[in-house]
Amino acid sequence: MSESFEIIEESFRRILRPGSELGLLAEGFQFTEGPTWWPAMGCLIFSDIPGDTIYRWSEGEGLGVFRRPSRRANGNTADRHGNLITCEHGSRAVTRTSPDGEVATLADRYGGKRLNSPNDVAVKSDGTIWFTDPPYGVKPENCEQPANYVFRLDPGAAEPVIVAEGLSRPNGLCFSPDERLLYIADSDKDIHHIRRFEVEGGNMLGGGEVFATITPGLPDGMRVDAEGRLYSTAADGVQVLSPDGELLGKIHTPQTAANCAFGGADGRTLFITATSSLWCVQLAVAAATPIDGMIAGS
Ligand code: MG
Repeated sequence: MSESFEIIEESFRRILRPGSELGLLAEGFQFTEGPTWWPAMGCLIFSDIPGDTIYRWSEGEGLGVFRRPSRRANGNTADRHGNLITCEHGSRAVTRTSPDGEVATLADRYGGKRLNSPNDVAVKSDGTIWFTDPPYGVKPENCEQPANYVFRLDPGAAEPVIVAEGLSRPNGLCFSPDERLLYIADSDKDIHHIRRFEVEGGNMLGGGEVFATITPGLPDGMRVDAEGRLYSTAADGVQVLSPDGELLGKIHTPQTAANCAFGGADGRTLFITATSSLWCVQLAVAAATPIDGMIAGS
């Protein structure tokens, strides 16, 4: 067993393959975030926010620049139509990149005022786009929104609608495999919570109880696997929680992890962005169906 894995509950072994090992894919970045597998392009996409670059990586072609400048892109995800959805700090917008490279702004205002700095994004199977809007990428004097909301953008809508308020620093977010639950990280340094909301009526949120408190560091990007386990980033790597919120084990990274995503040809590789580096680990489980536009097990 690789020393990268810390087993806290025996069932953690079920997500590992006999040869599972943490591997370094690339390094030398400023601050990596926003990994997502883009099935239409057969590659991993991830952001270097201060480096103002979106990179691509695949096993066959290795590392390359996908877009520079990236308007300080942060979170990325793929939708069901082959598009890449991106949160940008620089433009304070959520954008859509089609496979042919055309970029369209989907949302940059709410109530006629500019968004703060969209951070992370998840697309539901009905095409609605859910994103968080904390102020990490904007100076306080330039904030126009009165709070840090979580938004839903409906296909074709001119503006998003608020689906959650009251979180201090809403950050990473992801749906459960059946899309009945939405997990949202609150990265406030005094809070460290992951909250669990119920998706009501298909497009609104209820509940919102504390699902887990993540230490050391803060919860940031998150993903769910096909069996409902939650993978939350933290200062010591990726922490894997059961659907009940029990900490099952950890995948330790040498640097603070900020986000993770399932991908690869079989959807069973977990990619981890950790400060200046990009890592991967082959697992025995795949992404949840709604995550990153992938179909689990395919
Ligand atoms: Mg984030």
